[in-house]
Amino acid sequence: KKNLLVFGTRPEAIKMAPLVKELQKNHQDFETKVCVTAQHREMLDQVLDFFEIVPDYDLDLMKPNQNLHQLTADIITELKTVLEEYQPHYVFVHGDTTTTMATAIASFYSGAKVCHIEAGLRTWNKNSPFPEEMNRQITGRITDYHFAPTQQSKENLLLENIKESNINVTGNTVIDALLESSERVKHLENEEITHLKSIVSTQKELILVTGHRRENHGQGFVNICSALKEIANKKPEVQIVYPVHLNPKVKGPVNEILGAVSNIHLIDPLGYPAFVWLMNQSKLIITDSGGVQEEAPSLGKPVLVMRNNTERPEAVEAGTVILVGTETSKIVEETLSLLENKERYKEMSGKHNPYGDGKACARIVAFLKDQK
Ligand code: UDP
Repeated sequence: KKNLLVFGTRPEAIKMAPLVKELQKNHQDFETKVCVTAQHREMLDQVLDFFEIVPDYDLDLMKPNQNLHQLTADIITELKTVLEEYQPHYVFVHGDTTTTMATAIASFYSGAKVCHIEAGLRTWNKNSPFPEEMNRQITGRITDYHFAPTQQSKENLLLENIKESNINVTGNTVIDALLESSERVKHLENEEITHLKSIVSTQKELILVTGHRRENHGQGFVNICSALKEIANKKPEVQIVYPVHLNPKVKGPVNEILGAVSNIHLIDPLGYPAFVWLMNQSKLIITDSGGVQEEAPSLGKPVLVMRNNTERPEAVEAGTVILVGTETSKIVEETLSLLENKERYKEMSGKHNPYGDGKACARIVAFLKDQK
């Protein structure tokens, strides 16, 4: 059978990379090609380099100030040609980006079966997160085989009347990527890691911050930055490292509010190995990222999530994640509490990761081998 994996952003690439490898290992059963839309360019390329993936098709669609309408139209139109040329049986999409949704539609029009990795995450609020929730609901309607990371995500799909035999609970492929990368990072000395070693003190506690979500653009990021500034001022002995997302709506307020705070290091987005290295060095992580809250529990790091709702309730229930929203005072209060309350910190950092065991890709491939 012929497979085409399609992705376009950094998190999709990280989470699809181990699946590309696993499918390639099974070349007696599958021929596998990769198509990138390059919805994000630089951050995607960093991941492709690290995992040594050379795309067979590169649509190179990122445009300055791109909008979702144009991007969706471009993906559907460009993919038509690729689908006609390669004629895959299975098209693999991941998660909830515009690439995911538009690829699912294009594949449906071309008659290919859609396999959705990280299926079944839901907030049930069509506007939050925007546009991800609607992207994944639309993708779910079109998908033939749903690979759900957890039992809870399977339950969500059953509520949408998806046939149970088409749902497979696999764990999240991000843990496959993380476990492999953590091993490689131990022996890796690249430029980014060397630079990080020169700015990060091993004597000081480190808070790692990331943020990018569209719904936090505007006042959300202003509040988040004000909170980080207050934490940095109240805890001068702590260092904050923040790899800033390249979106101008994020970079703008971050540079303006935090640019001159001496114990906050604003740096460019990191390649995956350097980021994994930095997660390992950190005491706690403040983020609005989905992937980071799935990875951090495997490294024993508590996560404060700057959002008001979540499609990842497993981590909140397991106690590895606290939803702190985007109010300045709440972010400050919860961060200081984790820095000061050793018992609470120990409790949060010693939990089991609900998102998987690193064998998700093997389960996906085994399931597909069993299909006629
Ligand atoms: N990540 C990275 N470099 C960074 C920040 C994050 O490689 O500077 C990785 C992180 O380990 C995770 C993924 O990127 O696997 C998360 O991406 P992002 O937060 O952009 O998207 P989301 O997970 O929210 O969809």
